[in-house]
Amino acid sequence: MSIISDNLIAIRSRMKSAADRVGRQVSDIRLVAVSKTYPPSVIREAWEVGQRVFGENRVQDALPKILELPAEAEWHFIGHLQSNKIRKALPAFELIHGVDNPELAIQINRIAGEMGLTASVLLETNVSGEASKFGFSPDALRQNLEDLLSLPNLCVKGLMTMAPYSEDPENARPVFSALRKLRDELASKTQHPLPELSMGMSGDFEVAIEEGATIVRIGSSIFGHR
Ligand SMILES: *Cc1c(COP(=O)(O)O)cnc(C)c1O
Repeated sequence: MSIISDNLIAIRSRMKSAADRVGRQVSDIRLVAVSKTYPPSVIREAWEVGQRVFGENRVQDALPKILELPAEAEWHFIGHLQSNKIRKALPAFELIHGVDNPELAIQINRIAGEMGLTASVLLETNVSGEASKFGFSPDALRQNLEDLLSLPNLCVKGLMTMAPYSEDPENARPVFSALRKLRDELASKTQHPLPELSMGMSGDFEVAIEEGATIVRIGSSIFGHR
């Protein structure tokens, strides 16, 4: 079997152990294999051993790959979506993880409406307050969420975050737990469930699962270092 197959088996087993530690079902956590920068031949190896969901962060790079992989593959957009790429992205991606400001959400809603689609999105949240990060601040989310939930062609499925880079995954724990608490607060305030929490990457996905992640986005631990 290939390295990619071995890596996927190892990741799935680590996901299960993390879920077990906190009494969760691993079937409630989706693995997005982040295939950005990798060619279709490499992605196909993961497909052949059962991986079905892939993550890309550039529309232009993703579209040819999506055409080459089986049509049943599911693609998530995990990057910073530029407004001039929305029209191409909407039919190609099942879920857009990084909606990080109200204007972008409003544009996605408008274009989805024109195309007769509903766009499923996650709102990227900057819980750590790092200046270099994209995303809504918790307060901006508290202010804007009701308006975003009322957009008819936008379906807000939950929140997404990236923890600051650190050698020690424990440093990400407060960020992930803050995202979950913010989600709980907003869900109860708006009476809108916001079921998805997209958090955790190669370096910190186990901590993210312990803190409630429903989607982990893992690239280098599956495909190798870029
Ligand atoms: C690249 C990327 C990942 C995957 O990172 P790895 O450390 O390679 O697992 C996850 N999320 C986002 C938003 C990314 O850009």
